[in-house]
Formats: sequence, C-alpha cells, structure tokens
Amino acid sequence: MRLKRLELYGFKSFPHRVEVAFPSGICAIVGPNGSGKSNIVDAVRWVLGEQSPRRLRARAMEDVIFSGSNGRGPNFAEVRLVLENNGQAPGELADLPEIVITRRLYRSGESEYLLNGRPCRLKDIHYLFMDTGAGHRAYAIIDQGEVGSFVELRPEERRLLIEEVAGVSRYKTRREEAQRRIKASQENLARLEDVLTEVK
Ligand code: ATP
Repeated sequence: MRLKRLELYGFKSFPHRVEVAFPSGICAIVGPNGSGKSNIVDAVRWVLGEQSPRRLRARAMEDVIFSGSNGRGPNFAEVRLVLENNGQAPGELADLPEIVITRRLYRSGESEYLLNGRPCRLKDIHYLFMDTGAGHRAYAIIDQGEVGSFVELRPEERRLLIEEVAGVSRYKTRREEAQRRIKASQENLARLEDVLTEVK
C-alpha cells in the first residue's frame, strides 16, 4: 500500500484543513525549523493508531489538538490518510482502489476511527496493516536518532530487531509453540507406554 495523501485538520500546528500529497517516487518535506515537518510524520503515526503520546512528542494525547490563538480553533483533531491499494488490503477492502483511514479526537476525550468512512475499531486498523510492513510499530517510520541507537545496539539486540523487521519473529514464536506442543505430546506418549507396560 502506498501513501497517496494526508489531510490534517486541527492537528498540532495545523488549525486549518491542509492536504499533503505524496506523488509516486521519493518525496521530501522541506521547510524552516518549527514549520511542522515532524508534525506531518506524527500525523501519519497517529492515524495509524499510535497510542503513546510520547512517541508523538506530546505529554498527553489531547496535546495533538491544535492549541493556539486564545482557545479559538477546532475542538477536535482529525487526520485522514489515503492509501493506494495494491490488493494488500484484507477481506472486502481488497478490491477497493483506495483505503481511507480517519482518526478523530475531541477535546472531551472522545475519539473515533473510520475506515473508508465507516466507524471501525483500532483493531481493524492494525489488522489492515498486518504482514504489510507498515503500521505504527513496523519500523516504517524511523525517527531521528534511531539509526544511531541501532548502530550502538548489542549484536543480540540488533538481531532481534532485524528479525522483527523481516517478519521472522512471528515464525519463531510459532516454532516455539510447536516445540512446546511436541514436548507435551512426547510426555503423554511416554506415560501411555508406561500404562501399556503395566497392563501387559
Ligand atoms: P525542526 O526542523 O526544527 O525539526 P519541524 O519543521 O519538524 O522543526 P515540528 O516539530 O513539526 O517542526 O513543529 C513544531 C511546532 O509545532 C512548534 O512550533 C509547536 O509549538 C507546534 N505545535 C505542536 N503541537 C501543537 C499544538 N497542539 N498546537 C499548536 N501548535 C503546536
């Protein structure tokens, strides 16, 4: 799935509706310090379901709502992310050319997610990105300083991270589960053989 367009309203430093288009190829966002470049990245992370204010460079989640000019401005933050679907979307979404994810947060604390305009659960957004290499925790977004800390990791830690990115961790977990089940079955078998010997 490719990012096509991002629409922000009332999110961080964007009180008015702003549309950021991502044409195919490499896109760069440039601008003076403090102009909101990182806020755009935060918006992508947020709409994908980020739950940690710290990872959005905020103290509390309501800090993502625009707070400026004497309390004027929207009373909610909204981010819409338009993705080009290349058949990776699951189930009934698979045939749609575009997937639109919307996240809204009101000052009252109420929040909602929409998938192509229909209310959905955060779980549905996570499910949408499973196995795609995207999603809020999939290392699709690499923060400043993360490259440095990657270099400084111990080899075992680095290996874990690479395995997670490559999607190997899932198979490792499944293998461990299978090994546990094999061990339990072998123990049951040994017990059965004991019983059989006694009966004989
Ligand atoms: P740099 O190049 O220095 O990294 P940047 O272009 O990435 O800067 P951001 O960090 O995205 O800039 O934006 C910072 C600005 O966003 C600050 O001026 C901050 O006050 C503003 N900001 C953050 N949250 C809010 C909010 N809820 N309401 C209004 N403004 C906000």
